[in-house]
Amino acid sequence: MSAVLISLGANLPGAWGDPIRTLRQAIAELQTRHVAVEHASALYETEPLGGRRQSHYLNAVVLAKVNVAPAALLRTLKQLERRAGRRLGTHWGPRPLDLDIVDFGGRRYGWPAGVRHRGRLVLPHPEAHRRAFVLIPLLDVAPDWRHPVLGVSAAALLARLRSQRRGVRRVLDSGWILCDEAGS
Ligand code: AMP
Repeated sequence: MSAVLISLGANLPGAWGDPIRTLRQAIAELQTRHVAVEHASALYETEPLGGRRQSHYLNAVVLAKVNVAPAALLRTLKQLERRAGRRLGTHWGPRPLDLDIVDFGGRRYGWPAGVRHRGRLVLPHPEAHRRAFVLIPLLDVAPDWRHPVLGVSAAALLARLRSQRRGVRRVLDSGWILCDEAGS
């Protein structure tokens, strides 16, 4: 079994309803696909990055155990994004559901991650250390996590993102996800 950190984001209604329903459904769907969710972070509202006019995002991170390979987990996440109504679009565009593997058992794969190739997995996620909306919820579920490549703690990475941090607001505590959906 590997411990994985998965980030979830949503800013558009999709096939599963509004963003909070979509995130709840995504966690429930993960549980049925051999992803044993152990802890879910609080729920955060985040100002969109990328300079495009779009709605705020809801973001969370879950800590889970899996017994599949990273590529198989990524396929599951992409399948769920499609089922939630996501279509191929611009990189920074709005989406009903975005699921990323932030960390997979501390594995290092595809770094340095300067050039991204579609479909090619990079671990840890190549942007995670630069995103306050990932690091803040990650600290809820894995306060001692260190970036496996950079060797820097999540708290220290977050301290570098002062202006972004202001754009991430806790809107619901970890009870936002029902206990049976979070597996606890
Ligand atoms: P995004 O627009 O963020 O959903 O980017 C999705 C693409 O990033 C997919 O084609 C994945 O193959 C690639 N990718 C690389 N590393 C990761 C990762 N750790 N988690 C999720 N997607 C990844």
